[in-house]
Amino acid sequence: MLTKYSLAVIALSLAFCGCTAKNNGIKLVDYHVHLKGGLTLPEAVAMSKVNGIQYGIAANCGLKFPVTDDKGLRAYVASVKGKGAYVAMQAEGREWVTLFSPEAIAEFDYIFSDALTWRDHKNRRMRLWIPKEVFIDDKQQFMDMYVDRIVWILDNEPIDIFVNPTLLPKVLAPEYDALWTDARMKRFIDAAVKNNIAIEINSRFKLPKAAFIKKAKAAGAKFAFGTNNGDRELGKLEYCIKMIDECGLTPQDMFTPKGDGKKAIQLKKLPKLKY
Ligand SMILES: [Zn+2]
Repeated sequence: MLTKYSLAVIALSLAFCGCTAKNNGIKLVDYHVHLKGGLTLPEAVAMSKVNGIQYGIAANCGLKFPVTDDKGLRAYVASVKGKGAYVAMQAEGREWVTLFSPEAIAEFDYIFSDALTWRDHKNRRMRLWIPKEVFIDDKQQFMDMYVDRIVWILDNEPIDIFVNPTLLPKVLAPEYDALWTDARMKRFIDAAVKNNIAIEINSRFKLPKAAFIKKAKAAGAKFAFGTNNGDRELGKLEYCIKMIDECGLTPQDMFTPKGDGKKAIQLKKLPKLKY
């Protein structure tokens, strides 16, 4: 018979065992933090400690971005390294592959990119988050081209994490569920798994949705939490934490920075600029 005493012992041991581990035992890391809106590195590191979330502080590197060459990369690494956060490179646009050397890139803990900037079949350069730079002649054709670009990036660009995944231009966002068909999700997920590139779960955009995350987990994908803050507000990875529960994510599903010799930039050549 269970006495009050033995119940108390069971409750206590449950509280300390892995069965009730917070966030399913996943260590919280926000791999996609920018020093924006006046946020400084010391402030970010202090927030990281208060919130119990490790940060990766990313430089925006690419054509018409703050960092455009190896000198800029190395100056950024020197300013962030050893200060209590991961040093991350956000590779911007598609032109980044022509601007930096693999050696300088390899000084970062990890690098990431997205598929929000590319040229379409009429050579129109789009930035999908800027409505006036988005050209959609036909929605289905646009989506197929978007998925083609995503797959090309995953197959060719030496990145560790693919960020802002499945984000649609504002004009298409209300049709997210219809446009992200099973076949399109599958092409994306298969390419990420094949190339060993983690998929970001983005807390600010609340993307990808649970259906995508569940399929990706089943296919063996790895995930990395990220915010991609537009100002000094970082939040606390609320959407990512919700997805841990909803999609049953475990520590084995999560990305960890690869370490020297195993980074994507050290394993895969920079491709020629295509899109
Ligand atoms: Zn970003």
